[in-house]
Amino acid sequence: MTSRVWHPFTQHALHPQMPLIERASGSVLHGADGKDLIDAISSWWVITHGHCHPPIARAIQEQAARLDQMIFAGLTHEPAERLAERLVRIAPKGLDYVFFSDSGSTAVEVGLKMALGYWRNRGQARSKFVALEGGYHGDTVGTMSVGARGVFTQAYEPVLFQVTHLPFPSEGCEQACLDALETACKQGDVAGFVVEPLILGAGGMLIYAPKVLTEMKRICERFGVLFIADEVMTGFGRTGSLFACEQAGITPDILCLAKGMTGGAVPLAATLCWADIFEAHYSEDRTKTFFHSSSYTANPIACAAANANLDVWETEPVLERIARLGRMQEERLARFEGDERFLQVRRLGTIAALDVKVQDQGYLAGIGPKLYERFIASGVLLRPLGNTIYVMPPYGISGAQLDKVWAAVGEAASAGFVGS
Ligand SMILES: *Cc1c(COP(=O)(O)O)cnc(C)c1O
Repeated sequence: MTSRVWHPFTQHALHPQMPLIERASGSVLHGADGKDLIDAISSWWVITHGHCHPPIARAIQEQAARLDQMIFAGLTHEPAERLAERLVRIAPKGLDYVFFSDSGSTAVEVGLKMALGYWRNRGQARSKFVALEGGYHGDTVGTMSVGARGVFTQAYEPVLFQVTHLPFPSEGCEQACLDALETACKQGDVAGFVVEPLILGAGGMLIYAPKVLTEMKRICERFGVLFIADEVMTGFGRTGSLFACEQAGITPDILCLAKGMTGGAVPLAATLCWADIFEAHYSEDRTKTFFHSSSYTANPIACAAANANLDVWETEPVLERIARLGRMQEERLARFEGDERFLQVRRLGTIAALDVKVQDQGYLAGIGPKLYERFIASGVLLRPLGNTIYVMPPYGISGAQLDKVWAAVGEAASAGFVGS
């Protein structure tokens, strides 16, 4: 059977066939052929409590029968009002306004546009952005511009806008990064600094210290540069705390959320900002309006799912589950410490990662697709980022399931798939 579907980040010439998934529950994707896959990457980092988590599934069902979708310009609805109220309450203090959109990319794109609108409406010529080298913020032209330049972006390079990228603050190189930030901010034309707090996701699960983030915020503050935290991946518990910024004790000026916000069931994103940014757009002058929307802004079903997710956070021991998963990951990572076939065995919260020692590094490392196929054959969904293997499962994964995931990694190593 020929499929008419064009899949994301997929080279169809190399993947003519793909498994058909029929159902999902907890940490498992059930295939139509009867084969199960353990979802060890939370379906691209979105599933937090597990697939089809009953209270979230129920909320979606109920909301779909009551108010499915409506225009969000000029009208409002209870699920969005309630969700905004609750997001402000749980977010770092000071983020008082919530703008809804549909994906991580749009959450960041909205953040960039808020920053540009803020400076324009205040009559200041600031339109440059600074970002971290190796960062990932989405796949729209704006978010690709602030993200890493590489094989992902080559074809689009001619239309990307210019951004100052800072060297990654790896251990021992923190000061070079901070100095570069200060130098960039001193120019006086920087609108905002965009950063993934504590860990680069698609950039290879690279971790840096909370104190660096604290310092970055201090530098931005000193020069009036808006601090845009992209917590699309790190938000909702991934790094061990509800938001990664908490670990650095900072409140960003703009906070971008998406992936875990509905527990991963349906798409929804939010960009939170402090009152000053809202107020810079608040005027009887219509040209100062924040000109952004999408058809499905604050879709009621998605907002109901997000409210149900926050109920889960309030009524179930989610942070305890996260701490437990962190410990389980740590125990299983231990056997790879000092293994010469691997480099940089590391963990942050629920995320564990290690690099396979290979000649050709980077996203197109030949090892990636080979490992992927082998893991799938072992009943485990892991999708290495080049030569980086990472495990980022739903918080409720069982010890036995996690054992199976790490056993697949160990077996791939023993079978000579890694190391040379
Ligand atoms: C996934 C991701 C995005 C993009 O989110 P989408 O929902 O895929 O558009 C942006 N920033 C970070 C840090 C991400 O991990």
